[in-house]
Amino acid sequence: MITYNVFPPPAGLNAIDVFGFLVLSAVVASMPMVINGIPIFMIQWVSVAVFLRYGVFIEMITVQLSILILLLKLRIPREGMFRLPLNSAMFFIVSFLSGAFYYYLGGTIVPDFKEGMGPFWLGLAYAAVYYVLNQLILILNQRVIYRSTEPFFGKDFVWETVTTVITLPLGFVLYMLHRDLGIMALLFIGGPFASISLILKMYDSTQHVNEYLQKAAEIGHQLAERVNVNEVTDLFLQKLTEMLPIDYAYVLEIQDNDDINLARRVEDGMVMPNTHMGLRKNQGISGTVWGTGKPVLFGSRIEWRHIVSANIPVDAESILGIPMTKNGKIVGVVVLASRRKRAYEKSQLMIVDILCSHYAIAIENARHYEQTKEESERCSLTKLHNYRYFEKVLYREFEMLEKNLRERLALIILDIDHFKAVNDTYGHQSGNEVLKELASRIENIVGDSGSVARYGGEEFVILLPEVTSREAYNLAELIRESIANWPFILSQHLEGNSHSLSIKITASFGIATAPEDADDPLALIRHADRALYVGAKRAGRNRVAAYVK
Ligand code: GH3
Ligand code: MG
Ligand code: MG
Repeated sequence: MITYNVFPPPAGLNAIDVFGFLVLSAVVASMPMVINGIPIFMIQWVSVAVFLRYGVFIEMITVQLSILILLLKLRIPREGMFRLPLNSAMFFIVSFLSGAFYYYLGGTIVPDFKEGMGPFWLGLAYAAVYYVLNQLILILNQRVIYRSTEPFFGKDFVWETVTTVITLPLGFVLYMLHRDLGIMALLFIGGPFASISLILKMYDSTQHVNEYLQKAAEIGHQLAERVNVNEVTDLFLQKLTEMLPIDYAYVLEIQDNDDINLARRVEDGMVMPNTHMGLRKNQGISGTVWGTGKPVLFGSRIEWRHIVSANIPVDAESILGIPMTKNGKIVGVVVLASRRKRAYEKSQLMIVDILCSHYAIAIENARHYEQTKEESERCSLTKLHNYRYFEKVLYREFEMLEKNLRERLALIILDIDHFKAVNDTYGHQSGNEVLKELASRIENIVGDSGSVARYGGEEFVILLPEVTSREAYNLAELIRESIANWPFILSQHLEGNSHSLSIKITASFGIATAPEDADDPLALIRHADRALYVGAKRAGRNRVAAYVK
């Protein structure tokens, strides 16, 4: 109001022309040029033209409208909306002061640049003061309100100054052309400007997509190098979080085509315990992605609220849900969420989609690797660990012994008595049945106290960390009794009839311990073996013997 009274707009104003200027500034404000990811607000050239043509009051209205549009366009979250009146006030002050300065110097509205350089210099001075004031207020704003410590004269500042200087002549031309041609001038200048903005924007987004694609390929390689399932998942989520604003990340797996269950839950960068209930097809967000096979992109809670999803935190707004496919079949879903509204874009959805394919393959490979490794370390008949695995554990245990991380180690070796006779009488198949049953009896008794492995044909080893010779002896006795006292059932024997047979079996045991009996892995095995043959087999079998020097 004050402005209106102090600096009234010129009389005989053409409403259509003013409206045209407003439209032009709205268009310019709604497409801030994005250079290297920095949006640049280039309204000054329009506002200069408006000012020269109509004075402070109309210029203010134009600028205020532009700020409103720009803030809406930049998708400021609700918490940031307090910036609107603040920005309004800032620009109001800038408009008022620079206008006052211009009039003070003797500038007039609708100056005639053909009269000589005087009015032109005044116009330029106005633009310069306007820019400087604007930047000063921005610094104040940053330092006092946001308490930012970022250098003010950084990249943003350079780009803004450069674009302002480049576009300023456009403002003068617009003003002069409008004076002579009227509203057509807006089209002549505004049209090309808008087109160039649009092209630059498209170029920038292509650049962005290229960058993302490159990153995705890189991440794909890194994922492929991992052979551990958990490591693959962690790396995948870590890389996603580096690329996108993610507060919550969930990896879900489809089980038996029935349920979709959480495999990994990361909230604010922390792996959280999985307390989520499994979902069915078309249930919740992940169930929906699974059901439709299509990714989803939500900008705010209102858009997905109707899809019941108790598992997603209440403060989440934006959501990306992407199906993971393998051989054309959906095997899982990745759900990413942010507390910010409209945090994700379509182009990002595409990148996450690509990353999910990389992830699905990497997981598959890692699983395959883990399975192959597991299989290579187990005996296929008894499912016990094999010698290869046992050797590894034995060496590891000895290392710990040497580093004093372990106090002692006991080893039991057992060998079935007269096993050749079992094979000869009942057949190899029956022998196998005995081996299987024996393995499970040993495992049941040993449990977590040590590791059991099939050492060779009908020989088994039990490695017992932190177990004394005495305790090992008792354990071996327990196992010996469980073999000798309970017959073994044979169902695939060679005896004519089809009834199952039960036979009695015994085994002999040898024990050695470290560090008492041995100070290297091979010596430990050798001594236990010696106890087995000398102390147990030669002494009549079906007994336990400890190593004696
Ligand atoms: P002892 O140890 O009491 O001296 O007599 P033994 O008959 O058990 O000893 P020996 O080492 O001579 O025979 C071991 C037999 O175990 C020979 C082999 O046929 C049998 N054997 C080894 N591995 C397997 C297997 O995987 N399945 C079956 N069925 N038999 C096996
Ligand atoms: Mg034997
Ligand atoms: Mg043997």
